Amino acid sequence: MATPKYAVADQPVAPTELVLTLSDGTLVKRRVPRMRACGEKNVKEKLCAGHLKRWHGFGDEVKKAFGQDAEIYRCEKCRTLYLPNLEEEPRTGTLSW
Ligand SMILES: [Zn+2]
Repeated sequence: MATPKYAVADQPVAPTELVLTLSDGTLVKRRVPRMRACGEKNVKEKLCAGHLKRWHGFGDEVKKAFGQDAEIYRCEKCRTLYLPNLEEEPRTGTLSW
């Protein structure tokens, strides 16, 4: 009955990599694979868990950084932007160039 007294609680459940902070303070992060809900914490340290939706309404700043047709997801709650995780990209095994 060796119940560990100290659980590893300092680790975030879904560590996300901060990629960029826009001039208006919007965070741009990289999703972890299969992530569907926002991993941001609000001022009360509560997980946001907002739904991530594909978003096309980004401005020039995002276009400049990630391209005109960037695949961007936005949390519908806290408006944090997410980039798709590289491991999630479909692998066809064929190089198109
Ligand atoms: Zn959020």
